[in-house]
Amino acid sequence: MGSNWASYIKYKKAVKEQRHKYISLHVDSMEYIKKHYSTHAIIYQDYKESYDYVDAKFPGYNVRQVKVFKTSQSVLEHIGYRGVGGLFDKVHKIIIIDDRIKAGYYNDDVLFFGEKLPWDNIKAIVSLDEVLVHELLHYVSSCLSRTFSSVDLEEEFAYGHSVGYLRKKGLTDDDIIKQNFLPFLIKYIDTNKIIIDAFCKQHQGKDSTVFEHSDNSYIVTFLKKNAESIYNSILNSATQKGKEIIRIIADDKTYQQMISEKIIDNKKSFKFLDI
Ligand SMILES: [Zn+2]
Repeated sequence: MGSNWASYIKYKKAVKEQRHKYISLHVDSMEYIKKHYSTHAIIYQDYKESYDYVDAKFPGYNVRQVKVFKTSQSVLEHIGYRGVGGLFDKVHKIIIIDDRIKAGYYNDDVLFFGEKLPWDNIKAIVSLDEVLVHELLHYVSSCLSRTFSSVDLEEEFAYGHSVGYLRKKGLTDDDIIKQNFLPFLIKYIDTNKIIIDAFCKQHQGKDSTVFEHSDNSYIVTFLKKNAESIYNSILNSATQKGKEIIRIIADDKTYQQMISEKIIDNKKSFKFLDI
């Protein structure tokens, strides 16, 4: 973990890539996971609600047949996935979940400039049944004929379509954003831009290059002094994005219609291929 602005930006990029949990596992890695003593299979009977929700939403994709394993954090780290709650292997159509997720899962704390930047340490409180819904939605997405043009859209699909499940559990939309979506949303929005905008606003007439070329101690002082207002701006903009995802993916009838048409189309082409 670095301690200057350039390495901070680098770190943010790495995090953005790593949260791409929609991956192709190498066969060796898959064998390693499956054979490891800490790996256990999850079966339909144990998490009926999760399977049934996704199956009812996207019928005909054999959601209940998807193989799901939970394994230890060290196994995930061994195959190169640090800090992911769950992942979906699109080639073998297998879901793997970090077994620390039981009642609640917390992101690892991150230190930068010797500080915990509050917006990098937002914690998700999710349970295994919720992670399972999310990953099963990635599975459904992988069965659809289109592919999303970006990681963000793929994640929007999984987050947006999980809203119905979370509401059924009694969470309000605010709870959903705060407990479930926030770490994703914070990575989604451009926090660097918010930080640099705040800097430029305070240093009238200066542009972002001045910020980027400022020395570390100056940036640290600036971040510390303005942590609260920057944090609030980031939180606001993340919350707006969360509301937008809920409005469009969970609640917009036109969008729902479009998705179900795509599914029908896709099933037709499946049939065609089967013949
Ligand atoms: Zn995801």
